[in-house]
Amino acid sequence: MALKCPECGEVAYTRTSAYESATVKRTWYQCRNIDCSCTFTALESVEKIIMKPARTDDAEQLPEPPVKEAHILNRYGSNSNLSKRQQIPV
Ligand SMILES: [Zn+2]
Repeated sequence: MALKCPECGEVAYTRTSAYESATVKRTWYQCRNIDCSCTFTALESVEKIIMKPARTDDAEQLPEPPVKEAHILNRYGSNSNLSKRQQIPV
């Protein structure tokens, strides 16, 4: 999910995210406009379950959120490796 920067309106990159609960996720964003570089968080939550799967056992309980290590990319993401001509000579 991408969000627009609240300061300049550019698209902001997702930096990392973490579940606050089984139905709420907080995501950290950074504006891709280098002159702005605003960082902010956003919450995403389950608003309404439209249809539950048919189950015979306890269908009332929501599934546990997936356990995942926090993964923080460097400032410019995975495509930030220096090109060959930018490499420092050995
Ligand atoms: Zn911005």
